[in-house]
Amino acid sequence: MKYGPPPAASGRFNSAWAELATVGRDHRRGGYSRHVFDDADMQMREWFTAQAARRGLDTEVDRNGNIWAWWGTPGPGAVVTGSHLDSVPGGGAFDGPLGVVSSLLAIDELRVRGFAPAKPIALVCFAEEEGGRFGLPCLGSRLMTGMADPEHVRRLHDPDAISFADAARRVGFDPTTIGPDPDRVAMIGAFVELHVEQGRLLHAADPNAAVAVGTQITAHGRWRMTLTGEGNHAGTTRPADRHDPMIPAAAAILAARRTLSLYDGAVATIGRLEPVPGGTNVIASSVDAWMDVRYGAAADTAALVDEIVAAVREEAELEGCTLVVHRESLSDQVMFDPALTMDLASALKVPVIPTGAGHDAGILADRVPSTMLFVRNPTGISHAPGEHAETADCLAGIEALADALTELAR
Ligand SMILES: [Zn+2]
Repeated sequence: MKYGPPPAASGRFNSAWAELATVGRDHRRGGYSRHVFDDADMQMREWFTAQAARRGLDTEVDRNGNIWAWWGTPGPGAVVTGSHLDSVPGGGAFDGPLGVVSSLLAIDELRVRGFAPAKPIALVCFAEEEGGRFGLPCLGSRLMTGMADPEHVRRLHDPDAISFADAARRVGFDPTTIGPDPDRVAMIGAFVELHVEQGRLLHAADPNAAVAVGTQITAHGRWRMTLTGEGNHAGTTRPADRHDPMIPAAAAILAARRTLSLYDGAVATIGRLEPVPGGTNVIASSVDAWMDVRYGAAADTAALVDEIVAAVREEAELEGCTLVVHRESLSDQVMFDPALTMDLASALKVPVIPTGAGHDAGILADRVPSTMLFVRNPTGISHAPGEHAETADCLAGIEALADALTELAR
């Protein structure tokens, strides 16, 4: 099937995109910083709720802060689509919001077509998918499916030392309600998340295709390495007297990079270092190095981390520093529902591709038939201001999503 832009959808897409363009701009990093329960996130959430209301959809916020908009009465067998509204720090415009905007416009498209769904259709915005504020990715979907401990989540804190519980209360959300939502999960008959592609596998699969169906997500996890040395004066401390935790932190960065050339398909990245106190003329007393690793299945990922940690430990000992490693998260490889994936790929006549990025669909896949639609990203850049998708490709995605919902809700 060749997807072309229907003109009405094109106008609605451009205006939705223009409305979101100013929300949560990060003038320091570039791009967007939208984190759960911050001003930008709340504006995004209000925007979604208003858009859903304008379409006559009933909206509700579930016990975990995820927003649902229903076409039809909530009930079993619901066909659910959606994504997230939050971003990484300095993220692109498309990661998350494209799936949310597309879900709204796919409903418009189905109504233009005169489609009468035989099953309830729900649009969902999952809370804190990126883990950009509290460090735990897919927070909302993990809580809903019972894959995150609510007590642990309430105590998570953001970089300003504000706990999840306090952040929730500040925006009028009751943090005591968070936790497994088995009745809601049981209502979901199928989940399809549309997302901008975050690499260039679609181009490799078919250079002419604007859309693909997802097959699987590589195992991925996050680790925090706390290196502790001795804070001291940068000008007066002799080399022999230094216990500088930034030295083993540098070794961690290099060890992570080395694994990329040693193991095909492996990626390990340290994108965040937090030295304490963080002064130019101060030898840090400690540093937190946050590492993201993705490789094969969970055991492969964990083995790779062990290897990196061993190299860091060696360097830490040489520098007279200590190392404590905290595993913040580890998600196993996820295979999307094979029947759903293949049915959609053949109905939509689009290629199938895997992804190395985590998604709420990967969390839901453990409990309900789930899959994803990916929209082409010409450069493959994501989690950065340069993330991009052509409008024609976004419109193709909306049409493909409408077709997918038709297949599933008829
Ligand atoms: Zn995303």
